[in-house]
Amino acid sequence: MIIALKELGNFSVLHGISDRQISHEDFLKRMGNAAAPIARLEQVHGGKVVKIDAKTALSEEIPGADGAITDAKGITLSVRTADCLPVLFYDPEHHAAGIAHAGWKSTREKISKNVVEAMKANYKSVPSRLLVGMGPALRQCCYEVNSEFLMHFPDSVVKMAHKHYFDLVGENAEQLIASGVSAKNIFDCGICTSCRNGEFFSFRKEKDKAGRMLSVIMLK
Ligand SMILES: [Zn+2]
Repeated sequence: MIIALKELGNFSVLHGISDRQISHEDFLKRMGNAAAPIARLEQVHGGKVVKIDAKTALSEEIPGADGAITDAKGITLSVRTADCLPVLFYDPEHHAAGIAHAGWKSTREKISKNVVEAMKANYKSVPSRLLVGMGPALRQCCYEVNSEFLMHFPDSVVKMAHKHYFDLVGENAEQLIASGVSAKNIFDCGICTSCRNGEFFSFRKEKDKAGRMLSVIMLK
């Protein structure tokens, strides 16, 4: 499970400053894993989770997906983020992995829950035994939203000094716990991309100049 810092470069061809770009393949090479196929998701801010195996075509982005699961060794699952939350899943019992790109829209579509459900259905994963990692994201301290968010996430919007703030990470944690994941098995790095914009890309802070970071998980 690896999360690449801003320093390594921009993993998006669509966003950010082009001269800082790094390809997914270069990243694997630098990690000493040049031969590993990498699954890239289209990330449409939806709730769809795809199952990846040795037969899945990985030369193009997998259309329509914001989540993926696999039990195939040596395939790297990846998501690109800047403020959205990368969520990484591991089932040590059945040796299976999952990944989610959780922005507010895909969170509304229950992407974290959907990954748990997909791992249950495909690999017989027991939610309470899953290990879940949460990467850097825009946190409540910096995630100001309009009051409409209260409608979508009544339990995860706080009001402070007449402003509303959304707890994206907390909302995903609640979704996981409601799906049976044990709170003690959720490992949150606690990093806010906006507060620590020197090291992490933040769309909120950098707008169109923000590149994308890569989070990956691979079974050995
Ligand atoms: Zn912050």
